[in-house]
Amino acid sequence: MDFRDSPEEAAFRRRLRIWLADRAGAFPTSGDDYWTRQGEWHQALYAGGFFGLSWPREYGGRALPPVYDVILDEELAIAGAPPRPSLGYLVQGLGRHGGPELRRRFLPGMIAGTERWCQGFSEPGAGSDLASLTTAAVRDGDEYVLDGHKVWTSYSDVADWCLLLARTDPDAPRHKGLSAFVVPMDQPGIEQRPLRMMNGVTNEFGQVLFDGARVPASHMVGVPGEGWALAMTVVGHEREPAELGYSARYGKLVRDLAARTRGTPPAELAWAAVETEMLRLHVRRRLSERLDGVEHGPQGSLDKLLMTWTEQTVGHAALAMGATHDAELLGAYLYSRAQGVMGGTSQIQKNIIAARILGLGA
Ligand SMILES: Cc1cc2nc3c(=O)[nH]c(=O)nc-3n(C[C@H](O)[C@H](O)[C@H](O)COP(=O)(O)OP(=O)(O)OC[C@H]3O[C@@H](n4cnc5c(N)ncnc54)[C@H](O)[C@@H]3O)c2cc1C
Repeated sequence: MDFRDSPEEAAFRRRLRIWLADRAGAFPTSGDDYWTRQGEWHQALYAGGFFGLSWPREYGGRALPPVYDVILDEELAIAGAPPRPSLGYLVQGLGRHGGPELRRRFLPGMIAGTERWCQGFSEPGAGSDLASLTTAAVRDGDEYVLDGHKVWTSYSDVADWCLLLARTDPDAPRHKGLSAFVVPMDQPGIEQRPLRMMNGVTNEFGQVLFDGARVPASHMVGVPGEGWALAMTVVGHEREPAELGYSARYGKLVRDLAARTRGTPPAELAWAAVETEMLRLHVRRRLSERLDGVEHGPQGSLDKLLMTWTEQTVGHAALAMGATHDAELLGAYLYSRAQGVMGGTSQIQKNIIAARILGLGA
């Protein structure tokens, strides 16, 4: 495998560096400020021609090979710019399961960042066991009426639309009774309650309560009962390499930590450097497989687990280097704990690897 840039990739990288030189420092990279200005950052990237690189042209993407997303992630990290807003999994969910009308109506705004989105899957009683969710969608003429409680809904407070998973058939077995909808968030039947995270951030995610909220029946994504298949598409893509632009960020944090070192660096930092490089090469390998047309299924769980281990190792290095006295390092350490939960916990990834890759269990 030759991981060096092709002439076209090198030209793209140069153009991006020039663009970033003026803008990278202008946007906050962490904390509440980052989340407040994330929409602006998304739109700036898109307007510059640097967002939606590998998505179809008909929806406003640039139809480039996914390696361009990796170049983008690397350069954003090097420049100290905020990361690429992560919504590829929603694009994949709507793109694969939505009919032509929904795709045409919603994908361009989602990709350009002119309309903000959230993902309403988890509930207080349904996280790992997502199929047990109880939010109800009951047909009423041309609409469905929604009642239920979602939690850990990232960006819910700024979202215009929610990709919601709800139960449309209470008599069908668990996952067969679920359907997905594109729900308008600005309506009287929806209440937002922000959640404060342990790193102090208050506007990353919240709880969303549906009390008689309404959604047009035409906003169902796919057919009744297709919700589970959509959810699997979404979480599968949340875990795969295109969404693992994180490796570049971990590399930057390791370099920043190394630059702060006085005397002998702690062993944790050396291990973090090794794991970060391992993840970088792993992402590259996955991408070259994808360029060869290999479709990844449950292997996404391996990727997610490797990513979590790496982020948590880097977090431990930050801790070993005095994170308790430094708000930025402490934030990096605390956020690394969340990585083992979002998009399916590490235990759930191990279950999937055991059952679907190793063929263990019944
Ligand atoms: C930063 C962040 C962002 C998120 N964003 C969103 C979002 O935008 N939209 C959304 O819908 N959700 C979101 N989530 C929620 C996330 O998907 C859930 O938190 C996750 O699926 C776990 O569910 P839970 O919190 O209910 O934990 P539980 O499912 O209650 O799990 C509790 C513990 O039990 C373990 N466990 C549960 N079942 C098993 C099993 N079968 N085998 C072994 N161990 C098991 C888990 O691993 C975990 O350690 C987000 C979470 C985080 C941390």
